[in-house]
Amino acid sequence: MNLRIDLLRELASAKHAMALTGAGISAESGVPTFRGADGLWSRLNPQELASFDAFLRNPDLVTEWYNHRREIANHAVPNGGHLALVQMETLFPDFTLVTQNIDNLHRRAGSKNVVELHGNIERNYCIECGKRYDGDAFEENESFKCPACGGLVRPDIVWFGEMLPADEWKRAEFAARKAEVIFVVGTSAVVYPAAELPVTVKQNGGKIIEVNIEATPLSSIADATLQGPASEILSDIVKQLMELQGIA
Ligand code: NAD
Ligand code: ZN
Repeated sequence: MNLRIDLLRELASAKHAMALTGAGISAESGVPTFRGADGLWSRLNPQELASFDAFLRNPDLVTEWYNHRREIANHAVPNGGHLALVQMETLFPDFTLVTQNIDNLHRRAGSKNVVELHGNIERNYCIECGKRYDGDAFEENESFKCPACGGLVRPDIVWFGEMLPADEWKRAEFAARKAEVIFVVGTSAVVYPAAELPVTVKQNGGKIIEVNIEATPLSSIADATLQGPASEILSDIVKQLMELQGIA
């Protein structure tokens, strides 16, 4: 890792900090990203499955896909990257973790102040009466009908063409307006409006620290781009911040 010492010192004294995470932070836990060469994702086109139209057209197939993803997520164990972000909550007086992931791994790792921009695969609801169900309600490979009204039950996640949950977006934007630093981790930074958050931070005078195994469209405006696996780099940052803050 290679963070300039003046930048590190600035980070160590920040009062308001945040992170924006994407699928890459869960890759080391075995949860495939969209872009990775995993078999499932090369056979199925997420854009054709992750929409309300697709769900209505073929609820069994779409549900099977999400049952599969839920199973992967449930069996995955949070990695050092998730854990480093839990520690960050204790290093900054105000720390908001905004994620685009639906895999629930940040909460399972122990992060408290989590904003889930794209929902959470563990939450589901009936499209007719709104009744809520947790992930256990699904039987493998079957679409699940609401016992209360017979309506189809869908995951509480944001599909293509759908709005982000308004409250979550407000919390994310509020955090971005006051953040002195944003860590952008494991996201290709192309999905809007999430990709706007680092720009908002920068426009308000904050710093962008990007952590990714490769360059992204954000790299050109980032104050530092740290290339490598999120678990390693984030653990290093936490260690160095603790040393600077005299905690270690
Ligand atoms: P993406 O798949 O488009 O990009 C993943 C990014 O992570 C890439 O830039 C890649 O270089 C980087 N990366 C891969 N391994 C990494 C590692 N070990 N350390 C650091 N970086 C690593 O994902 P996205 O940007 O999150 O956007 C796509 C959409 O996919 C989001 O809306 C998200 O909801 C959804 N998605 C979520 C999950 C999940 O919940 N885990 C999984 C797949 C897709
Ligand atoms: Zn119902």
